[in-house]
Amino acid sequence: RAQKEPPVIRRLEESVVNRIAAGEVIQRPVSAVKELVENSLDARSSSINVVVKDGGLKLIQVSDDGHGIRYEDLRILCERHTTSKLSTFEDLQSIKSMGFRGEALASMTYVGHVSVTTITKGQLHGYRASYKDGVMEHEPKACAAVKGTQIMVENLFYNMAARRKTLQNSADDYSKIVDLLSRFAIHHTHVSFSCRKHGAARADVHSVGTASRIDAIRSVYGVSVAQNLMKIEASDDDPSSSVFKMDGLISNFNFVAKKITMVLFINDRLVDWTALKRSLEVVYSATLPKASKPFIYMSIVLPAEHVDVNIHPTKREVSILNQEIIIEKIQSVVELKLRNSNDTRTFQEQT
Ligand code: ADP
Ligand code: MG
Repeated sequence: RAQKEPPVIRRLEESVVNRIAAGEVIQRPVSAVKELVENSLDARSSSINVVVKDGGLKLIQVSDDGHGIRYEDLRILCERHTTSKLSTFEDLQSIKSMGFRGEALASMTYVGHVSVTTITKGQLHGYRASYKDGVMEHEPKACAAVKGTQIMVENLFYNMAARRKTLQNSADDYSKIVDLLSRFAIHHTHVSFSCRKHGAARADVHSVGTASRIDAIRSVYGVSVAQNLMKIEASDDDPSSSVFKMDGLISNFNFVAKKITMVLFINDRLVDWTALKRSLEVVYSATLPKASKPFIYMSIVLPAEHVDVNIHPTKREVSILNQEIIIEKIQSVVELKLRNSNDTRTFQEQT
Protein backbone atom coordinates (compact mmCIF):
# COMPACT_ATOMS: atom_id res chain seq x y z
CA ARG A 1 0.00 0.00 0.00
CA ALA A 2 1.35 3.39 -0.99
CA GLN A 3 2.52 5.70 1.78
CA LYS A 4 -0.01 8.52 2.32
CA GLU A 5 1.28 11.96 1.45
CA PRO A 6 1.22 14.36 4.43
CA PRO A 7 -1.60 16.90 4.19
CA VAL A 8 -0.81 20.43 3.11
CA ILE A 9 -0.76 23.01 5.91
CA ARG A 10 -2.48 26.25 4.97
CA ARG A 11 -2.99 29.55 6.70
CA LEU A 12 -6.63 30.11 7.70
CA GLU A 13 -8.37 33.19 6.43
CA GLU A 14 -8.55 35.95 9.00
CA SER A 15 -12.35 35.94 9.02
CA VAL A 16 -12.34 32.23 9.87
CA VAL A 17 -9.80 32.75 12.66
CA ASN A 18 -11.86 35.58 14.10
CA ARG A 19 -15.12 33.66 14.02
CA ILE A 20 -13.53 30.67 15.75
CA ALA A 21 -12.05 32.89 18.46
CA ALA A 22 -15.35 34.73 18.86
CA GLY A 23 -17.17 31.46 19.43
CA GLU A 24 -14.97 30.84 22.45
CA VAL A 25 -15.47 34.25 24.03
CA ILE A 26 -19.20 34.38 23.29
CA GLN A 27 -20.32 30.87 24.04
CA ARG A 28 -24.00 31.61 24.59
CA PRO A 29 -26.26 34.66 24.82
CA VAL A 30 -25.52 34.96 28.53
CA SER A 31 -21.79 35.37 27.75
CA ALA A 32 -22.60 38.41 25.61
CA VAL A 33 -24.74 39.89 28.39
CA LYS A 34 -21.93 39.37 30.89
CA GLU A 35 -19.40 41.15 28.68
CA LEU A 36 -21.78 44.04 28.00
CA VAL A 37 -22.75 44.52 31.63
CA GLU A 38 -19.09 44.36 32.68
CA ASN A 39 -18.32 47.06 30.12
CA SER A 40 -21.09 49.18 31.64
CA LEU A 41 -19.63 48.62 35.11
CA ASP A 42 -16.17 49.54 33.82
CA ALA A 43 -17.73 52.75 32.42
CA ARG A 44 -18.75 53.67 36.01
CA SER A 45 -22.47 53.44 35.37
CA SER A 46 -24.97 53.80 38.16
CA SER A 47 -27.84 52.30 36.20
CA ILE A 48 -27.72 49.30 33.86
CA ASN A 49 -30.79 48.01 32.02
CA VAL A 50 -30.97 44.80 30.02
CA VAL A 51 -33.64 43.80 27.49
CA VAL A 52 -33.68 40.34 25.94
CA LYS A 53 -35.71 38.84 23.12
CA ASP A 54 -35.86 35.13 22.34
CA GLY A 55 -33.41 34.11 25.03
CA GLY A 56 -30.92 36.59 23.58
CA LEU A 57 -30.80 35.05 20.10
CA LYS A 58 -32.98 37.76 18.53
CA LEU A 59 -31.89 40.71 20.65
CA ILE A 60 -29.72 41.66 23.60
CA GLN A 61 -29.80 45.32 24.54
CA VAL A 62 -27.76 46.80 27.38
CA SER A 63 -28.19 50.49 28.25
CA ASP A 64 -26.12 52.33 30.81
CA ASP A 65 -25.48 55.84 32.10
CA GLY A 66 -21.69 55.54 32.13
CA HIS A 67 -19.01 57.76 30.62
CA GLY A 68 -19.81 56.94 27.03
CA ILE A 69 -17.46 56.41 24.09
CA ARG A 70 -15.56 59.18 22.30
CA TYR A 71 -16.60 59.93 18.73
CA GLU A 72 -12.98 59.48 17.59
CA ASP A 73 -12.91 55.94 19.02
CA LEU A 74 -16.04 54.66 17.32
CA ARG A 75 -14.18 53.62 14.18
CA ILE A 76 -11.95 51.09 15.98
CA LEU A 77 -14.37 50.27 18.81
CA CYS A 78 -15.19 46.78 17.56
CA GLU A 79 -11.85 45.78 16.09
CA ARG A 80 -10.09 42.93 17.84
CA HIS A 81 -7.64 43.96 20.56
CA THR A 82 -8.76 47.57 20.88
CA THR A 83 -9.24 48.65 24.49
CA SER A 84 -9.06 51.67 26.76
CA LYS A 85 -8.16 49.52 29.76
CA LEU A 86 -4.81 47.85 29.20
CA SER A 87 -1.64 49.00 27.52
CA THR A 88 1.26 46.86 28.70
CA PHE A 89 1.23 43.17 29.60
CA GLU A 90 2.37 44.14 33.09
CA ASP A 91 -0.84 46.16 33.55
CA LEU A 92 -2.64 42.82 33.74
CA GLN A 93 -1.14 42.28 37.20
CA SER A 94 -2.92 45.21 38.72
CA ILE A 95 -5.98 45.37 36.46
CA LYS A 96 -9.08 46.61 38.27
CA SER A 97 -11.44 46.73 35.31
CA MET A 98 -13.48 43.70 34.30
CA GLY A 99 -12.31 43.91 30.71
CA PHE A 100 -8.75 44.11 29.45
CA ARG A 101 -8.39 42.29 26.13
CA GLY A 102 -10.50 44.34 23.79
CA GLU A 103 -12.11 41.20 22.44
CA ALA A 104 -15.69 41.19 23.63
CA LEU A 105 -17.28 43.72 21.29
CA ALA A 106 -15.20 42.47 18.37
CA SER A 107 -16.30 38.90 19.07
CA MET A 108 -19.95 39.95 19.06
CA THR A 109 -19.55 41.51 15.62
CA TYR A 110 -18.22 38.21 14.23
CA VAL A 111 -21.23 36.22 15.46
CA GLY A 112 -24.01 38.83 15.45
CA HIS A 113 -25.04 42.33 14.38
CA VAL A 114 -23.89 45.04 16.76
CA SER A 115 -25.04 48.63 16.96
CA VAL A 116 -23.94 51.26 19.44
CA THR A 117 -25.52 54.54 20.53
CA THR A 118 -23.41 56.67 22.82
CA ILE A 119 -22.99 60.18 24.16
CA THR A 120 -20.16 61.67 26.19
CA LYS A 121 -20.34 64.40 28.78
CA GLY A 122 -20.94 67.92 27.51
CA GLN A 123 -22.16 66.85 24.07
CA LEU A 124 -25.48 68.03 22.64
CA HIS A 125 -26.16 64.84 20.74
CA GLY A 126 -24.91 61.31 20.58
CA TYR A 127 -23.76 59.04 17.78
CA ARG A 128 -24.97 55.78 16.43
CA ALA A 129 -22.82 53.27 14.57
CA SER A 130 -23.20 49.65 13.53
CA TYR A 131 -20.59 46.97 13.07
CA LYS A 132 -20.01 43.71 11.25
CA ASP A 133 -16.92 41.48 11.37
CA GLY A 134 -15.00 44.04 13.40
CA VAL A 135 -15.64 46.87 10.95
CA MET A 136 -17.78 49.99 11.34
CA GLU A 137 -20.34 49.80 8.55
CA HIS A 138 -20.86 53.53 7.90
CA GLU A 139 -19.88 56.92 9.34
CA PRO A 140 -21.41 57.43 12.81
CA LYS A 141 -24.78 59.17 12.55
CA ALA A 142 -25.66 62.00 14.90
CA CYS A 143 -28.71 61.13 16.99
CA ALA A 144 -30.55 62.04 20.15
CA ALA A 145 -29.19 60.30 23.21
CA VAL A 146 -29.39 60.44 26.97
CA LYS A 147 -26.36 59.88 29.17
CA GLY A 148 -24.22 56.84 28.50
CA THR A 149 -24.16 53.98 26.05
CA GLN A 150 -26.65 51.56 24.57
CA ILE A 151 -25.39 48.46 22.79
CA MET A 152 -27.64 46.15 20.79
CA VAL A 153 -26.66 42.70 19.61
CA GLU A 154 -29.08 41.18 17.12
CA ASN A 155 -29.32 37.72 15.57
CA LEU A 156 -26.57 36.19 17.66
CA PHE A 157 -24.92 33.14 16.00
CA TYR A 158 -26.73 33.84 12.70
CA ASN A 159 -23.62 32.47 10.98
CA MET A 160 -23.08 29.48 13.29
CA ALA A 161 -25.81 27.03 12.37
CA ALA A 162 -24.83 24.31 14.86
CA ARG A 163 -24.59 26.75 17.78
CA ARG A 164 -27.96 28.29 16.99
CA LYS A 165 -29.58 24.87 16.83
CA THR A 166 -28.25 23.61 20.14
CA LEU A 167 -29.25 26.87 21.80
CA GLN A 168 -32.75 26.74 20.37
CA ASN A 169 -33.14 23.19 21.60
CA SER A 170 -31.65 23.78 25.01
CA ALA A 171 -33.50 25.41 27.87
CA ASP A 172 -34.07 29.11 27.44
CA ASP A 173 -30.96 31.15 28.06
CA TYR A 174 -33.14 33.83 29.55
CA SER A 175 -33.07 32.20 32.97
CA LYS A 176 -29.25 32.18 32.84
CA ILE A 177 -29.34 35.90 32.06
CA VAL A 178 -31.70 36.59 34.96
CA ASP A 179 -29.41 34.56 37.21
CA LEU A 180 -26.39 36.56 36.05
CA LEU A 181 -28.05 39.93 36.63
CA SER A 182 -29.24 38.79 40.07
CA ARG A 183 -25.64 38.09 41.01
CA PHE A 184 -24.38 41.45 39.79
CA ALA A 185 -27.25 43.22 41.56
CA ILE A 186 -26.48 41.85 45.02
CA HIS A 187 -22.78 42.65 44.78
CA HIS A 188 -22.87 46.06 43.11
CA THR A 189 -25.43 47.50 45.50
CA HIS A 190 -24.69 51.10 44.44
CA VAL A 191 -25.77 50.32 40.87
CA SER A 192 -29.40 49.83 39.89
CA PHE A 193 -30.01 46.91 37.57
CA SER A 194 -32.98 45.74 35.63
CA CYS A 195 -33.54 42.84 33.29
CA ARG A 196 -36.67 42.20 31.30
CA LYS A 197 -37.97 40.34 28.30
CA HIS A 198 -38.57 42.53 25.27
CA GLY A 199 -42.07 43.99 25.48
CA ALA A 200 -42.65 42.87 29.06
CA ALA A 201 -43.94 45.47 31.50
CA ARG A 202 -42.40 43.80 34.53
CA ALA A 203 -38.68 43.42 35.11
CA ASP A 204 -37.50 40.00 36.27
CA VAL A 205 -34.54 41.50 38.07
CA HIS A 206 -34.90 44.88 39.64
CA SER A 207 -32.61 46.55 42.15
CA VAL A 208 -32.68 50.17 43.24
CA GLY A 209 -29.01 50.96 43.63
CA THR A 210 -29.15 52.52 47.05
CA ALA A 211 -30.02 49.40 48.95
CA SER A 212 -28.05 47.60 51.62
CA ARG A 213 -26.82 44.17 50.60
CA ILE A 214 -29.59 42.44 52.49
CA ASP A 215 -32.22 44.69 50.89
CA ALA A 216 -30.78 43.91 47.48
CA ILE A 217 -30.90 40.18 48.22
CA ARG A 218 -34.50 40.54 49.39
CA SER A 219 -35.60 42.30 46.23
CA VAL A 220 -33.71 39.95 43.91
CA TYR A 221 -33.83 36.54 45.60
CA GLY A 222 -36.89 37.05 47.80
CA VAL A 223 -37.79 37.29 51.46
CA SER A 224 -37.24 33.62 52.27
CA VAL A 225 -33.58 33.94 51.34
CA ALA A 226 -33.02 37.34 52.93
CA GLN A 227 -34.51 36.44 56.30
CA ASN A 228 -32.36 33.36 56.71
CA LEU A 229 -28.89 34.79 56.25
CA MET A 230 -26.01 35.21 58.66
CA LYS A 231 -23.12 37.61 58.30
CA ILE A 232 -19.73 36.06 57.96
CA GLU A 233 -16.19 37.40 57.84
CA ALA A 234 -12.71 36.02 57.57
CA SER A 235 -9.28 37.38 57.00
CA ASP A 236 -5.71 36.28 57.02
CA ASP A 237 -2.98 38.85 56.93
CA ASP A 238 0.02 36.65 57.39
CA PRO A 239 2.06 37.76 54.38
CA SER A 240 4.12 34.57 54.42
CA SER A 241 1.12 32.40 53.62
CA SER A 242 -1.78 34.36 52.21
CA VAL A 243 -3.33 37.78 52.41
CA PHE A 244 -7.05 37.97 52.02
CA LYS A 245 -10.30 39.33 53.35
CA MET A 246 -13.68 37.78 52.93
CA ASP A 247 -17.08 38.97 53.91
CA GLY A 248 -20.38 37.48 53.03
CA LEU A 249 -23.80 36.23 53.91
CA ILE A 250 -24.61 32.56 54.30
CA SER A 251 -27.87 30.72 54.88
CA ASN A 252 -28.79 29.31 58.29
CA PHE A 253 -30.49 26.05 59.36
CA ASN A 254 -33.96 27.41 58.54
CA PHE A 255 -33.18 27.93 54.90
CA VAL A 256 -34.69 25.52 52.37
CA ALA A 257 -33.47 25.02 48.80
CA LYS A 258 -32.97 22.15 46.39
CA LYS A 259 -29.65 23.32 45.05
CA ILE A 260 -26.74 25.41 46.19
CA THR A 261 -26.51 29.05 45.16
CA MET A 262 -22.98 30.33 45.43
CA VAL A 263 -22.44 33.95 44.42
CA LEU A 264 -18.73 34.68 44.52
CA PHE A 265 -16.80 37.83 43.71
CA ILE A 266 -13.03 37.93 43.87
CA ASN A 267 -11.68 41.48 43.69
CA ASP A 268 -15.13 42.52 42.43
CA ARG A 269 -14.95 40.02 39.59
CA LEU A 270 -17.78 37.49 39.31
CA VAL A 271 -16.11 34.08 39.18
CA ASP A 272 -16.66 30.38 39.72
CA TRP A 273 -14.40 28.64 42.20
CA THR A 274 -15.50 25.05 42.19
CA ALA A 275 -13.09 23.89 44.89
CA LEU A 276 -14.40 26.47 47.38
CA LYS A 277 -18.02 25.76 46.48
CA ARG A 278 -17.56 22.01 46.99
CA SER A 279 -15.76 22.46 50.28
CA LEU A 280 -18.57 24.65 51.62
CA GLU A 281 -21.21 22.17 50.47
CA VAL A 282 -19.34 19.56 52.48
CA VAL A 283 -19.32 21.76 55.59
CA TYR A 284 -23.08 22.33 55.29
CA SER A 285 -23.97 18.68 54.90
CA ALA A 286 -21.64 17.69 57.74
CA THR A 287 -22.79 20.39 60.15
CA LEU A 288 -26.47 20.61 59.35
CA PRO A 289 -27.20 17.08 58.12
CA LYS A 290 -30.90 17.63 57.72
CA ALA A 291 -30.54 21.07 56.21
CA SER A 292 -31.01 21.83 52.57
CA LYS A 293 -28.50 23.21 50.11
CA PRO A 294 -27.08 26.58 51.13
CA PHE A 295 -27.25 30.09 49.72
CA ILE A 296 -23.83 31.69 49.89
CA TYR A 297 -22.75 35.18 48.93
CA MET A 298 -19.06 35.94 49.35
CA SER A 299 -16.79 38.77 48.39
CA ILE A 300 -13.09 37.97 48.63
CA VAL A 301 -10.40 40.59 48.31
CA LEU A 302 -6.87 39.51 47.48
CA PRO A 303 -3.75 41.38 46.40
CA ALA A 304 -4.15 41.84 42.63
CA GLU A 305 -0.88 40.05 41.98
CA HIS A 306 -2.25 36.90 43.67
CA VAL A 307 -4.99 36.52 41.08
CA ASP A 308 -4.38 35.52 37.47
CA VAL A 309 -7.42 36.75 35.55
CA ASN A 310 -6.18 35.64 32.15
CA ILE A 311 -6.65 31.87 32.23
CA HIS A 312 -10.07 31.45 30.65
CA PRO A 313 -11.68 32.81 27.46
CA THR A 314 -14.85 33.83 29.29
CA LYS A 315 -12.86 35.08 32.32
CA ARG A 316 -15.26 33.07 34.48
CA GLU A 317 -12.40 31.26 36.19
CA VAL A 318 -9.31 32.75 37.76
CA SER A 319 -6.20 31.20 39.22
CA ILE A 320 -5.37 32.07 42.81
CA LEU A 321 -2.16 31.90 44.79
CA ASN A 322 -2.38 29.86 48.01
CA GLN A 323 -5.79 28.41 47.11
CA GLU A 324 -5.71 25.68 49.75
CA ILE A 325 -4.91 28.01 52.63
CA ILE A 326 -7.74 30.35 51.70
CA ILE A 327 -10.25 27.54 51.27
CA GLU A 328 -9.29 26.00 54.62
CA LYS A 329 -9.64 29.29 56.41
CA ILE A 330 -13.04 30.08 54.92
CA GLN A 331 -14.22 26.53 55.52
CA SER A 332 -13.36 26.71 59.21
CA VAL A 333 -15.03 30.09 59.69
CA VAL A 334 -18.21 28.84 58.04
CA GLU A 335 -18.18 25.66 60.09
CA LEU A 336 -17.80 27.59 63.33
CA LYS A 337 -20.63 29.93 62.38
CA LEU A 338 -22.94 27.03 61.56
CA ARG A 339 -22.09 25.14 64.75
CA ASN A 340 -22.68 28.20 66.92
CA SER A 341 -25.99 28.99 65.32
CA ASN A 342 -27.04 25.37 65.49
CA ASP A 343 -26.16 25.20 69.21
CA THR A 344 -28.22 28.33 69.83
CA ARG A 345 -31.14 26.73 68.06
CA THR A 346 -30.86 23.47 70.01
CA PHE A 347 -30.68 25.50 73.20
CA GLN A 348 -33.78 27.49 72.20
CA GLU A 349 -35.68 24.33 71.33
CA GLN A 350 -34.89 22.81 74.73
CA THR A 351 -35.95 25.83 76.73
P1 ADP B 1 -12.42 45.52 26.95
O1 ADP B 1 -13.58 45.63 27.89
O2 ADP B 1 -11.59 44.30 27.23
O3 ADP B 1 -11.60 46.77 26.88
P2 ADP B 1 -14.44 45.40 24.89
O4 ADP B 1 -14.42 44.85 23.50
O5 ADP B 1 -15.42 44.82 25.84
O6 ADP B 1 -12.97 45.27 25.46
O7 ADP B 1 -14.67 46.98 24.79
C1 ADP B 1 -13.78 47.77 24.04
C2 ADP B 1 -13.72 49.19 24.55
O8 ADP B 1 -14.97 49.82 24.28
C3 ADP B 1 -13.55 49.31 26.05
O9 ADP B 1 -12.18 49.29 26.42
C4 ADP B 1 -14.22 50.65 26.35
O10 ADP B 1 -13.32 51.71 26.18
C5 ADP B 1 -15.29 50.76 25.28
N1 ADP B 1 -16.63 50.42 25.79
C6 ADP B 1 -17.30 49.26 25.60
N2 ADP B 1 -18.51 49.28 26.20
C7 ADP B 1 -18.63 50.50 26.77
C8 ADP B 1 -19.66 51.16 27.54
N3 ADP B 1 -20.82 50.54 27.84
N4 ADP B 1 -19.41 52.42 27.96
C9 ADP B 1 -18.25 53.05 27.66
N5 ADP B 1 -17.26 52.49 26.94
C10 ADP B 1 -17.43 51.23 26.51
MG1 MG C 1 -15.20 44.36 27.91
